Amino acid sequence: MTDISSLTYEELCEFMKTLGEPEFRAKQIFEWLSKGVLSFNEMTNIPETLRTKLENIAIIATITVRKKLIDRDHTIKYLFELCDGNLIETVVMNYKHGKSVCISSQAGCRMGCRFCASTLSGKKRDLTAGEMLLQVSYVNKENHISNVVVMGVGEPLDNYDNLIIFLKNLKDENGLNISHRHVSVSTCGLVPQINTLAKENFQITLSVSLHAPDDMTRNLIMPVNKKYNIKELMTACDSYFEKTGRRISFEYILIKNINDTFTHAEKLSKLLKGKNCHVNLIPVNHVEERNFLPSDKHSANHFLETLLKNHINATMRRTLGGGINASCGQLRSSEYKEFLKQKT
Ligand code: SAH
Repeated sequence: MTDISSLTYEELCEFMKTLGEPEFRAKQIFEWLSKGVLSFNEMTNIPETLRTKLENIAIIATITVRKKLIDRDHTIKYLFELCDGNLIETVVMNYKHGKSVCISSQAGCRMGCRFCASTLSGKKRDLTAGEMLLQVSYVNKENHISNVVVMGVGEPLDNYDNLIIFLKNLKDENGLNISHRHVSVSTCGLVPQINTLAKENFQITLSVSLHAPDDMTRNLIMPVNKKYNIKELMTACDSYFEKTGRRISFEYILIKNINDTFTHAEKLSKLLKGKNCHVNLIPVNHVEERNFLPSDKHSANHFLETLLKNHINATMRRTLGGGINASCGQLRSSEYKEFLKQKT
C-alpha cells in the first residue's frame, strides 16, 4: 500500500503516471489532501472507478477527534487518535496577526527533557508526512490558518525525512500554499540535523529550546545536552543563520531556582551577545509528574530586564490555553493515564 498523502506533488504525479492516469488527477488529489479529507470517497471529482482502484492499492492519513477543548482565550486543543490508536495533540492559537496551529511530529518523544510531559512514556512512533499535513489541513477547515509551528508532541528533527516532505507539501502551490516564512520548527538541539536542515535553505524559522546558558544546568534538565553541548549547538546555530539568513529564535523556559537567577541571565546574555537572534521567555508549565515550578513574576521580569539591559532581543511569551492543559503534551499525557487506568 502506498501512502499517497506522504508523497510530494512530483511523486504523486509519477504515481498517477504509473497507473496510466493523466497528471491533472494528481493535482486534484493533492488539492483534496490539503482540504483535510479523510477518505478517497470524499474526493468527489475523481471517477468512482479510480477511487475504488486507489482504495485497493493506496492509503491516506486519517485522524479521529477524541477530544476538542476550547479555552476562554479561544485557544482550541484537539486530541487526535491516529489510525493505530496512538494519540497526538494539535493546538490552534489566536494571535493579532492570525491563527497559528501547533502540530505534533511524533507520538511521544524520546528526548527525555525533565520538564516535559510528552516524553513521560517515551516515543511510540514517528508521524508520517501525511499525518503532519493532515493536522494543518483538518483544523484549517474550521479556522483559517496562517502560521504553522512544529512545537507539539515530539522532536521534529528526530523525524527528519518526514518533516522535510511535510514542509515541502505545506508550501506547495497545488496545496495549502503556506509560505515558509510563516512556519517555525522547534528543536531540543540535534546538531547534525540542524546542519543538514541549513542546507535545505528553507525560509522557515528555527526555534531552539535552549533553556539554560551553561552545560551544567542544561545537563540537569535536557539529556540531549550530554550528546551535543552548548558550544556545539551554538556553532550549528551560527552556521544555520549564515547559510539561511534566518535569525534563530531561542526558547527559554523559566524554572524556579533552576535556571532563572540573575547569574543565569548574565550568562545567557554573554552566550548570545552579538548574535542576530530572539529569546522567547516562557514560565514553565507545571507538569504533575515533574517537580519544577514556574519562576515567580518578580524573578521572571528581572530575568527579562537583565537580557534587555544587555541588548539581547527578548520577550516574555503570553501563555495561551492555560485553562485547558493546552501546553506541551499535557492533554495527551492525562488521556494516556486514563487509558492505562481503564486497562488495569
Ligand atoms: N522537541 C521540540 C519541540 C516540542 S516541545 C523542542 O524541544 O523544541 C515545544 C516546546 O515546549 C519546547 O521549547 C519545550 O522545551 C517546551 N516545553 C516542554 N515542556 C514544557 C513545560 N512543561 N512548560 C513549558 N514549556 C515546555
